[in-house]
Formats: sequence, structure tokens, C-alpha cells
Amino acid sequence: MEALKQKIRNVPDFPIPGINFKDVTTLFKDPSAFRMAVDRFVTEYADKSIDLVAAIEARGFILAPVLAYHMGMGIVPLRKPGKLPAETRRIEYDLEYGTDALEMHLDAVGPGNRVLIVDDLLATGGTAAAACQLVEDAGGIVAGVGFLIELSFLDGRKRLDGRPVFSLLEYGSDE
Ligand code: AMP
Repeated sequence: MEALKQKIRNVPDFPIPGINFKDVTTLFKDPSAFRMAVDRFVTEYADKSIDLVAAIEARGFILAPVLAYHMGMGIVPLRKPGKLPAETRRIEYDLEYGTDALEMHLDAVGPGNRVLIVDDLLATGGTAAAACQLVEDAGGIVAGVGFLIELSFLDGRKRLDGRPVFSLLEYGSDE
């Protein structure tokens, strides 16, 4: 896993001073690192019973479809406001920097659907908590919340309140 960490670029002070941005584009463009990351996720979720993958805009859109394809599942997008064309439910949340909102089509998740939520990175957990709430408000069950990166020092897991979290790479505040 250390080899994968080497492929992720740190961009200091982006998008605002004080944020050490984990740039995963450098991992995504490396064929063997990308494959290793995807394979590890597929292994993690192979024996979990999952009906649907939910992808968080925007970097979740790169990882989640590959997983869904490999696992033989459908995929639903969780998008920034105003992007989805049909009727949506919206949840607003706080970010590590600023505030934002996520929307999901009302008919995207059905009652009892077991959903795997995927994003690139868990920071404070606000985004993922909003994603969980969207799925659960629709009657779905959060069967997993998967991340490439977890910034452990921000305690985002706590905010996910016991939902099953998996992260491939954990980072401390000095990394
Ligand atoms: P949070 O809601 O605080 O857990 O933030 C997670 C979302 O913000 C994810 O969609 C990430 O892509 C993005 N994000 C937050 N902090 C960072 C960071 N330090 N580096 C890269 N992306 C980040």
C-alpha cells in the first residue's frame, strides 16, 4: 500500500491555504497503481451483499464505475446541486473547506437496496454522511462506504456513525 501512497501527489494550500490536497489524478493515470487500487476494492466487497454502487461527484465518478463494472452492479450518481435532470432529494453539509450539497434522483435507490457509496477521500465525513442520508432517506441500506484515502486525524469515521467504512490508504496529519 506504501507503493500506492507514493503515486498520490500532495498539493499544499489547495484550494485554500492550510489544506494539503491529496491529488489522486497521479494515481489514476498510472496503470498498475490504478489496477492495484481497483482490485483491492473488488476483493474487499466481493463477499458483501451489494445491489448498487453510489458514486459521489466528482472523483468518486472515476473510481466507482470501474468497481460497479467489475462487481456486475448498476451505478447511481450523487451530484452537486442542479446537475440531475429529474426530481431529486438534496442534503446540505459542511466541508473541510466551505459548505456544499449533494443531490440524488428520488427513484435512484429503492427500499431495501443495499448500497455501496464510493468517493476518493474521507476528510471530515460531511460529504459521505450526506450521501448516507440520501440513500437511507430513500429507504436504502448503506452496505459500505469505500474510500481510496482516509485522513484519519479528521475523525470522519465518527461522523459516519457506525456505518461500515473501508479505506485503502490512511494518512496522518504529517503526511
Ligand atoms: P469531507 O466532507 O470533509 O469528508 O470531504 C470529502 C470530500 O472533499 C471528498 O469528496 C474529497 O474529494 C474532498 N476533499 C476534502 N479534503 C480533501 C483533501 N485534503 N484532499 C483532496 N480532496 C479533499
